[in-house]
Amino acid sequence: MRVSRAGKRKIFPMDRRSALLVTLASVLLTHLPAAAAPAAPAPAPPSVQVRLVPATVRQGDTVVVFVAGTRGARDVEGSLGGHHLAFFPYGAEYAALAGVDLETKPGKLPWRIGLVDSAGTPRKAAGALTVKAAGFPVQRLTLPGKMVDLDPEAERRAANEAVRMRALYDTVTPERLWRGSFTRPVASRKPGEGFGSRRIINGQPRMPHSGIDYSADRGTPVVASNRGRVALLGEFFFAGRLVALDHGLGLYTLYFHLDGVSVTEGQVVERGQTVGTVGTTGRSTGPHLHFAAQLGPARINPPELFALPVRD
Ligand SMILES: [Zn+2]
Repeated sequence: MRVSRAGKRKIFPMDRRSALLVTLASVLLTHLPAAAAPAAPAPAPPSVQVRLVPATVRQGDTVVVFVAGTRGARDVEGSLGGHHLAFFPYGAEYAALAGVDLETKPGKLPWRIGLVDSAGTPRKAAGALTVKAAGFPVQRLTLPGKMVDLDPEAERRAANEAVRMRALYDTVTPERLWRGSFTRPVASRKPGEGFGSRRIINGQPRMPHSGIDYSADRGTPVVASNRGRVALLGEFFFAGRLVALDHGLGLYTLYFHLDGVSVTEGQVVERGQTVGTVGTTGRSTGPHLHFAAQLGPARINPPELFALPVRD
């Protein structure tokens, strides 16, 4: 029997489904016996175990879905909250990152996994992930009217740029470019802040803040949080000068309000490689780095990537 990387975690049998499934987000698939029993029973294929780490999440969190007991399996696929999971081989297992968007309603988020085992038998598992409210703060800001009330041209421009960003996030590169842990993208005096905060600007509720802000001096180097491909360079109305890195399998990190950019589109950068410098371009009230992470359609809390339970 193989020991999975998180071998200490308990795996419960399928029979004890429901509540356990939900609370532990852990399930063992039993192999269905063939209709006609062979004279000499073939050795049972290894059991398939699905493990979600962590088992309970808050809005904006990242979950790693591990599928073990998959030796010889193929077509490992699945979804969480209706969104596709992009699996990659992980040791003798498969793993996928899943994002819980910061505006996901607290409650149960269904997941399902399907695969074809080494004997050619399709197998399935399903369950639900408990999502808790993150309790994001509400921030009331007063800004000059000209920064808030966009003229029609600026509004069109911002809308076009939002469409471009969405098109980027919809592009899932099938190759996993990132490895191991992600790194903080800038040396700042204070930890980043503001993820998920709901802004009410001049009395008008706005989109929640989907990144974290690191305050740093203009010109401070900004580095790639992990290995990735420069997917987009832009000069956007809100984001200012920006770099978007594609880490593969639907994961992007974003670096906004940059003063300078030192990479070109299509270039592959390594973790820690300088991509630009801190600035205050776009809608910004002072030099800082707005650092964001997007996983499929989910806006996730970037520091979650600094402590992923993935070793390679
Ligand atoms: Zn920001």
